[in-house]
Amino acid sequence: MFDLDNTLHDALLHIFPRINQAITAYVMTHVGVDEAAANSLREQYWRRYGATLRGMVRHHGADPGHFLRHTHPVAELAGMVVATRGLRAALERVPGRKVIFSNAPSAYIHAVLNILGVTDLFDGVFSIEHARYWPKPYPHGFYRLFRHYRLAPRRCVMVEDSLDNLRTARRLGMKTVWVGPAGRRPAGVDAAVSSVLGLPRVLHKLK
Ligand SMILES: [Mg+2]
Repeated sequence: MFDLDNTLHDALLHIFPRINQAITAYVMTHVGVDEAAANSLREQYWRRYGATLRGMVRHHGADPGHFLRHTHPVAELAGMVVATRGLRAALERVPGRKVIFSNAPSAYIHAVLNILGVTDLFDGVFSIEHARYWPKPYPHGFYRLFRHYRLAPRRCVMVEDSLDNLRTARRLGMKTVWVGPAGRRPAGVDAAVSSVLGLPRVLHKLK
């Protein structure tokens, strides 16, 4: 199981600032508030629900599909994705079925995988729509994913940059690989790599 953003590519440089801006603009328009109020709502919903989306649906009647289409710049991604060189070769050295499990919408995930040139290496894409808008680290999406692909959590590995998300994965019985700054190996993960390119080298720790 692979997360997408900041796991398979760098979204911090161009994509996240854009999404961030778009979410604030969406809240301003949809709720009819200024930027400061929109940011404070976002903060509140983030703390309470783990995602602005859930707060917008619950308290402002937003349509989740509409929200996701207007906050993810799918058409402009080609110039924004910062690809990791050698990604394809590294993924090819990892055995087993591979599924993307991301908090992003399907259209965005497919666009990024195409740009990275690795679409064919994945057996499936499990997006926020598939998780019925329950983002990681909520366990709901994980359960749906296990059911959908008929997976035993103990035989799955989650590869992720978010330690919160890995904590849920581990609690549900999955093995975990953290993609994070070099030289750190936080407690509670089975392996840590500074880039997904290091994954083939830690496979022996996941048996
Ligand atoms: Mg991520």
